[in-house]
Amino acid sequence: MKHLVFFGAPGAGKGTQAKKLAEQFNLSHISTGDVLRNEIAGLTELGNLAKKYMDKGELVPDDVIIAMVEHIIEKLSDQQGFILDGFPRTIPQVEALDIMLDKHNRQITKVIFLDVPKQELVNRLSSRAEIEGRADDKDINIIENRINVYNQKTTPVLDFYSKQNKLVHINGIGTIDDIYNRILSVV
Ligand code: AMP
Repeated sequence: MKHLVFFGAPGAGKGTQAKKLAEQFNLSHISTGDVLRNEIAGLTELGNLAKKYMDKGELVPDDVIIAMVEHIIEKLSDQQGFILDGFPRTIPQVEALDIMLDKHNRQITKVIFLDVPKQELVNRLSSRAEIEGRADDKDINIIENRINVYNQKTTPVLDFYSKQNKLVHINGIGTIDDIYNRILSVV
């Protein structure tokens, strides 16, 4: 069974690629950013709390995100593989994920790292602001903050999975299909 993590900076293309792969292999696509945006749209308590952080380009606190993901994973059937998109994003999240997967006799099989240089990320996020209207893409200062937060808090996650030989490096530059074919060749 496939249990994949899609990893990369904001704007690296995780969501686009994860959706395509999930469809092809009938995997559950778990995007923490999408779940949070739905909570915000539904005006829930979780949405209201998350919005305060997301609007500034900060990470939502670990305990909140971990409880949310655990709830989602618990609801999957035993046979259902998944792609995590946007989680784990900190070392405490990695550790919590390990414990929750252990409980369900699952293991991360591969971590797909979509590597895209910073200037390209900024260009993509700025143009996505016009297409998708995401609040956190609209302001260059928020974009910069998200990339800084990624560099400081999220990149240590790469080392963790690299030591477990689970990390696969994918060049994230090219057309959507080019990048998808690179991913297909490793999963
Ligand atoms: P994304 O759509 O993955 O870029 O996520 C949008 C925003 O949601 C992020 O900038 C964070 O504020 C929040 N978020 C999503 N996933 C996480 C996570 N694993 N940990 C903390 N915050 C998250």
